[in-house]
Amino acid sequence: MAQAYIPFATGGMARDATGILRVVDRYGNVLESNEQPSQGIRVLSETGAWLMNNLLQSVVRAGTATGTRWYAGGAPYAGRDAGGKTGTTSDYADAWFIGFTPDLVASVWVGYDNHVVRMRLQSGRGEAGGDIAVPIWGRFMRRSFAGYDPAAAPEFPPAASGAVEHSIICRQSGFLANAQCGDKAVDEIFWTGTQPASYCPIHTGTSPFASDTTIPDFTQFDTGDVRGWPSR
Ligand SMILES: [Zn+2]
Repeated sequence: MAQAYIPFATGGMARDATGILRVVDRYGNVLESNEQPSQGIRVLSETGAWLMNNLLQSVVRAGTATGTRWYAGGAPYAGRDAGGKTGTTSDYADAWFIGFTPDLVASVWVGYDNHVVRMRLQSGRGEAGGDIAVPIWGRFMRRSFAGYDPAAAPEFPPAASGAVEHSIICRQSGFLANAQCGDKAVDEIFWTGTQPASYCPIHTGTSPFASDTTIPDFTQFDTGDVRGWPSR
């Protein structure tokens, strides 16, 4: 499952995952090195992978996995950006989070093989991937990168020139936002040529969303989502 996320981090190239970067003997001789991964096989277009990467970064920034950032103290993983996806099966029998940086992907599953255990809070509310798998992942990643120099952090591959465009759309209708959309307006990224061409029919009006209007910042994580986790 972790390996399946590699193309999202590499700009569309599938590679074999490895859990060992290098093997060194007591004299410092490198016996095995996997630090220069193979080129891999292209399984997604560059732009398709970039857009998916962007979506999965949104999960960490503003979605169900915002706790990962909180856990990293606001400077995630030694200067690295991260993306990922939570998952929860029926009746809260399994909770997942699979997340990645440009150089490390990790998968966390919390559950029980025969689905007899249901994970619930004392209040009775079911625990989802964002509740219990994400904190484990965040802690693992933070420790994995402890001591790494943020200035040397690798970055995700950039989008190809002209491949993607920003448009301000209405979150409710999916059409271009106009002035009446108010706080439903959001800056979204599109594969060039696929953005909506007409304006929101719900919040009627034909004037374009004023460029000097403040767009809500959905990248601000909501500390209300963080329930009583320890500070470290
Ligand atoms: Zn609207």
